[in-house]
Amino acid sequence: MIKFTNSERAFEEAQKVIPGGVNSPVRAFKSVGGKPIFMASGQAAYITDIDGNRYLDFVCSWGPLILGHADPRVVSAIKQAAEHGTSFGAPTEGETLLVKQVIKMFPSIELLRLVSSGTEAAMSALRVARGFTGKNRVVKFAGCYHGHADSFLVAAGSGALTLGVPDSKGVTPGSAGDTLIAHFNDLGSVEDLFRKHGSEIAAIIVEPVAANMGVIAPNQGFLQGLREIATRYKAVLIFDEVITGFRLAKGGAQELFSIQADLTVLGKIIGGGLPVGAFGGRRDIMQCIAPIGPVYQAGTLSGNPLAVAAGLATLKLIDTEPNFHKSLDEKASVLEHGLIEQAEKIGVKATINRVGSLMTVFFNHEKNILNFKSAMQSNTIQYKVFFIAALNNGIYFAPSQFEAAFVSAAHSYDDIEKAISASKAAFEAVAALQ
Ligand code: PMP
Repeated sequence: MIKFTNSERAFEEAQKVIPGGVNSPVRAFKSVGGKPIFMASGQAAYITDIDGNRYLDFVCSWGPLILGHADPRVVSAIKQAAEHGTSFGAPTEGETLLVKQVIKMFPSIELLRLVSSGTEAAMSALRVARGFTGKNRVVKFAGCYHGHADSFLVAAGSGALTLGVPDSKGVTPGSAGDTLIAHFNDLGSVEDLFRKHGSEIAAIIVEPVAANMGVIAPNQGFLQGLREIATRYKAVLIFDEVITGFRLAKGGAQELFSIQADLTVLGKIIGGGLPVGAFGGRRDIMQCIAPIGPVYQAGTLSGNPLAVAAGLATLKLIDTEPNFHKSLDEKASVLEHGLIEQAEKIGVKATINRVGSLMTVFFNHEKNILNFKSAMQSNTIQYKVFFIAALNNGIYFAPSQFEAAFVSAAHSYDDIEKAISASKAAFEAVAALQ
């Protein structure tokens, strides 16, 4: 058993001054029990905690670090930018370069605005969709996450499957009531909402590959169906590609599934590990934004020079490295098959959903995990045991069943093999429960 003495002490201190000791809830390890581990450093595919324990990392800061930790090319871009000043509150040329790079990779984007987080980007995209259409309501899918703005903290509960109820204290019934909940991979549920409320719906927002209820791929025709419904009802189709953008292909899920959204929400990789988000899309919609239009949106640190430098360095590498995604996906596929083989050998019933370099090991007997409801059938006790045993064997998976594992370009085939061998002990620990 490894020791976490320093992390425990740091957590005690943090709890005195930070709610729950963490600045984002998933870091608290609540769903796997135990206490959070405090990190000291990261290098390539590995992270080291403040007790000196080293782990092979499959969280990768929840997605931004597609090149791994402290990639020297990204670090050097940040250092260079920092030497010229960290913020001006005035435009810089780097912002235009980053935006041009994004537009090159995402053909559906004609104009793009930079912000500082995925939450801000999703919130602003919805505001501009409302401003553009003159309508108020939004269709969101149960189990999809779009940051913590009021309109998005709504999910279906039993008996409230269509009209939204707040998922968090502090969200007013007014905000929640404008959010209509549909079911992922169920076009009928979207049609129903539009039949009843079509004239009031400004936008459909979706994670084109769901990654916040565990990874769930869209069924064939699902995204095309959303495209068709949105066009028919003159609603704005918003793809939240905060996780999928630049990861599933250069042009994200839109490239992978050959579909164009009206607006795209970006985050994570676009900042190369520093805080950046962005939203953009059709020129006619994006022209509604201040200072050229009536929809207000702003940010003191938006387009921050350090963050822009890190993002630009990251995107350029993704864009120019030959076979970047092919090689990333192949490594993820080896991991997927290795984990399945281990689980089968040991007799643990697990289902792995993988799309490209995103995957989730569901402790779930269902073969087809297609939506929030089936994801929720997973055995979270088994996941907890799996997570802890993996951690004790030097592998850092997400501290929750309903998140993705992220493979980065910095993971080598040796690293993948190491994770597969370590998973043996983790699946054995699960089997011991049965
Ligand atoms: N959208 C999606 C799909 C996300 O996964 C997240 C965060 N995990 C967000 C939006 C919010 O981004 P942020 O945490 O940067 O505010």
